[in-house]
Amino acid sequence: MRRLVMSAPGNAASLGTAGQAVVIGAGFAGLLAARVLAGHGHDVVVLDRDRIPVRPARRPGVPQDAHVHALFDRGLRALEGLLPGFGEELCRRGGHRIDVGRDLAVVSRHGRGVRFTSGLHVIGASRPLMEAVIRDRVRELPNVRLLERHQADALAGTRGHVERVDVRDLTAHGVFTLAPDLVVDASGRGSRLPGWLAQLGCARVRETVVDAHVGYATRLFSLPDSAVPSDWRACYAPAGGPALTRGGVLAPIENDRWIATLIGVGADRPGRAAEDFLPFARTLATSAIADALSKGEPLSPVMCSRSTRNRRRHLARAASRLPGNLLVIGDSALSLDPVYAQGMTVAALSAALLDRHLSDRSHRPPAPRYHRALGALHAVPWMLATASDLRYPGTDGPGPRAHQRLLGWYADRVLAAGIQDSRAQKAFLEVLNMTGHPARLLAPSVLAAALLRGGTSTDSRERS
Ligand SMILES: Cc1cc2nc3c(=O)[nH]c(=O)nc-3n(C[C@H](O)[C@H](O)[C@H](O)COP(=O)(O)OP(=O)(O)OC[C@H]3O[C@@H](n4cnc5c(N)ncnc54)[C@H](O)[C@@H]3O)c2cc1C
Repeated sequence: MRRLVMSAPGNAASLGTAGQAVVIGAGFAGLLAARVLAGHGHDVVVLDRDRIPVRPARRPGVPQDAHVHALFDRGLRALEGLLPGFGEELCRRGGHRIDVGRDLAVVSRHGRGVRFTSGLHVIGASRPLMEAVIRDRVRELPNVRLLERHQADALAGTRGHVERVDVRDLTAHGVFTLAPDLVVDASGRGSRLPGWLAQLGCARVRETVVDAHVGYATRLFSLPDSAVPSDWRACYAPAGGPALTRGGVLAPIENDRWIATLIGVGADRPGRAAEDFLPFARTLATSAIADALSKGEPLSPVMCSRSTRNRRRHLARAASRLPGNLLVIGDSALSLDPVYAQGMTVAALSAALLDRHLSDRSHRPPAPRYHRALGALHAVPWMLATASDLRYPGTDGPGPRAHQRLLGWYADRVLAAGIQDSRAQKAFLEVLNMTGHPARLLAPSVLAAALLRGGTSTDSRERS
């Protein structure tokens, strides 16, 4: 297997000279943070409470790994920057490269978006495979050690500096202490960060929560070639605000399997019963997913998740009051409603941000500036996810503020225009893939299409 090429200034000559770093969590963000820290010469210890599988497999510490995980174009590019050849390797191990304009049928309640070659890609692969590809690359690094079945229990030190991490060995049932120079919290949605900060004597970091009560149900299928029409390789039927509170995705993954994820909001959350899966799929904006599934064979039970709320920790505002050597990354800092498929991209972009901040040696300790920059990075994904979620009347959280309500309404107009207008569809796909700023949706050509055509489209279910 190819060795990781380290980018300057974290070149091989500097290995082991920057002190020890402890990363809590070997999930998506933790592995990428380890790669970055290793590149800057840290001796990195990555802790995870799970047993880490040798081959791609689901694990309890990442309960969401049963569900469809779309790594959109911007995230793919960020990953390529950190792990050159990542996409190629994912495809070599069974992933399917999908052009989101040509091969992904986005079928909203207004109809299917115009089909065109976009040059933007998503790779159809299971979350365990994506993580395994990253993990195998990170494990090759000589200055990274992954300690499985090791849980970070407590942080000790002062308000300004973490001095110790108390670690529980879940296999040997012992406890020991590490005294690193840097600590990275990458322990995901369930992070104990607030408790750890309290142990250090830090003031509480403010959080904002927006919860649309979204539920997921996923099942794996085997499908004959004839089940899938020739004009798509994956299908995405987004929920469409209060008018349509159900959505779904069907995508190919490795080992000749398909992953079907159904999504519902509030009372419309899908359940675990196998007999309800297909009938639910029939109620989406398009029958294409149900039609394909009806020709296939299920390969798994139905797996459910309701852990989908948006939560933003306002680390940027608290930056100067937090320990200078404690860095937060991934879902611990910002967790988003997964419907918008931004989490892994944000994690990859955050790792790239960390790389830039560690390169700038004039700013020590690194945490305050990194957290301020992270806050700026979080702003757009947070706005997009919460603006859409706040359109549902049952959503808990502050708002809807007028601009969020307007953005949610306007995004739906662009989606409607996109069934006839390729410029509107392209702008929508760029924002979805995070390769374009949402301001793209206000380009004159898109604005005109959204206001003229977007208003005239009818609900596709009414038309059929
Ligand atoms: C249902 C669902 C579907 C999703 N779909 C998508 C999608 O389509 N596209 C997308 O981009 N994102 C998606 N996401 C989001 C994505 O899963 C996360 O953004 C991403 O996994 C964040 O990575 P992370 O490393 O922060 O957390 P995780 O990947 O969850 O990893 C956290 C790790 O920390 C470990 N850990 C926790 N506590 C400790 C401790 N005290 N000590 C040691 N180890 C610990 C856990 O075992 C785990 O390995 C989805 C999320 C959900 C819930």
